[in-house]
Amino acid sequence: MEGTFILIMGPSGSGKGTLLSHIRKRFSEEAEVVFPVSCTTRAIRPGEKDGETYYFISREEFNERINNDEFLEWAEYGGNLYGTLKSEIMSPLKDDLVVVREVEVQGVRSILSIFPRPNLHLVYVDAGEWSDFEKRIKSRAPIEDKELKERQERYKDELSFREKADEVISNRDGELGEAKKRMEKIVSSKLSDRVQRES
Ligand code: 5GP
Repeated sequence: MEGTFILIMGPSGSGKGTLLSHIRKRFSEEAEVVFPVSCTTRAIRPGEKDGETYYFISREEFNERINNDEFLEWAEYGGNLYGTLKSEIMSPLKDDLVVVREVEVQGVRSILSIFPRPNLHLVYVDAGEWSDFEKRIKSRAPIEDKELKERQERYKDELSFREKADEVISNRDGELGEAKKRMEKIVSSKLSDRVQRES
C-alpha cells in the first residue's frame, strides 16, 4: 500500500468539519485527493446530499454491513452509528492516492490500532482548553450537568490523542484563516511526496 490516509480529529466544536469542507473545495480539481464517504444511521440534515459525506442508511442495513465485514471501523456517537467503509479507503490507498477523512475519537483509536502507521497522517485540531469549550457549549444552549460531564470526559479522551498526532493545527478564536492554510499545506505536501515517489 502506497497512499496516505490523512485522518483529522479533534473535539466536537473544534472546527474539523469546517477545515475538511475547505480542503474539499480547495482540492476539488485534484483527482489524486479522495474524500471517502462514510455510512451513518443519523437523519440527513438540510443541505446534505446522500453519498456526499455520508450514505444515510437504516440501522438494519448498518448491522448487515457490520456482519459483512465492510467497515474499517465503526462507532456509536450521540445515539447514531457511524462507520468508514473499507472499499472507500483501502482502494484509493492501493492506487497511491491521498485520502482525507474526519472521524470521532473511537474511530481514531481503532484506525491507529489496525492501520500501517507509515500510511497514516494524524492531524489533531486544537481549539483551546476545556474551559473555552465549556463557555462555548453553555452559550449555545442550556445543558444538563450530566451531559456537560460526559462532554468533559470525551474531551479528555480526545485530548489524549494530541501527543500521538503527526501534526497539531491550532484553531482557537481568530485562527481559522491560518488553520485552513496549515491544512492545505499538509495535503499539498502529501501530494508532492507522491510525485517524488513516482519519479
Ligand atoms: P455529524 O453527525 O455531526 O456529521 O458527526 C458526528 C461525529 O461523527 C463527528 O465527530 C464525526 O467526526 C464523526 N464521524 C463521521 N464519520 C465517521 C466515521 O466514519 N467513523 C467514525 N468513527 N466517526 C465518524
